[in-house]
Amino acid sequence: MMAGRLIPIVSDPGEQATVDLIGGARAEALQLIQESWGLSASEDCRIYVMTSWLRFVFQSAPWSWRILLAVTLPFWSFRARRTWPYSAAWTQRYGKRVAIGIKPPRLLAQSDKSFGVRLFVEEKDMQLNVRRVTCHELVHACSAHLRLPAWLNEGIATVTVDRFAGKRTIRAETLNLIRDYQPKAPPPTYRELSRMSGEAFVYHAVRGFWLAGFAEEKCPGFLRRSFRLNWQHARSSRRSRSSWAWGRRTSGARLMPWLVVTL
Ligand SMILES: [Zn+2]
Repeated sequence: MMAGRLIPIVSDPGEQATVDLIGGARAEALQLIQESWGLSASEDCRIYVMTSWLRFVFQSAPWSWRILLAVTLPFWSFRARRTWPYSAAWTQRYGKRVAIGIKPPRLLAQSDKSFGVRLFVEEKDMQLNVRRVTCHELVHACSAHLRLPAWLNEGIATVTVDRFAGKRTIRAETLNLIRDYQPKAPPPTYRELSRMSGEAFVYHAVRGFWLAGFAEEKCPGFLRRSFRLNWQHARSSRRSRSSWAWGRRTSGARLMPWLVVTL
């Protein structure tokens, strides 16, 4: 799709102020994502004003997925319920559909910030936070087809938000962790990251930001070109989708040798 094409915003009645807020950030963020990474959202992308995790999941899933989600509810609801208090927004992928859920400002203000304060420069204005969260999640929506590893996915989203905000939104002190912290395990998946705490969590949560920022500073356009090459390769390849995931001994790893080695 073209940058700026309207992605629908779905909400309950009474959420018009949040719809307007998200709508204002949407076109600006999509333009920036296209310029920064050459990425745009899929045809079937929607944004939901999210006031309940259960309602968001079932409202945003296609009909065929709802049955599967209902049957498997005990397996995924625990994690969803646990991460809900900390989450500002979620991006879910159901086949070709990408659904973004964003909490309205009043719920964002009530969120548990015990993790967030260690990562982000404090921003008290919840309207600004909703705009930034919209930008962050739209990056995930636009890169969903690339199936990037969690660190890179978060890295490009956070770098984009800094450009969107016109200032750094990640605490500068977290860079000390990149220098000093000795990771005891390989980069975590999202599921593994959600179980982490303390320094390990902060380190893995911000590492992608500092690395993507470093790549952009030292070699502008490198990531953008890599995304295009990976996608072209994936489309022309007969190998299974999972076999080209970045960070394995596949096309992704060959395209990004220094990043794979460094990480
Ligand atoms: Zn994210």
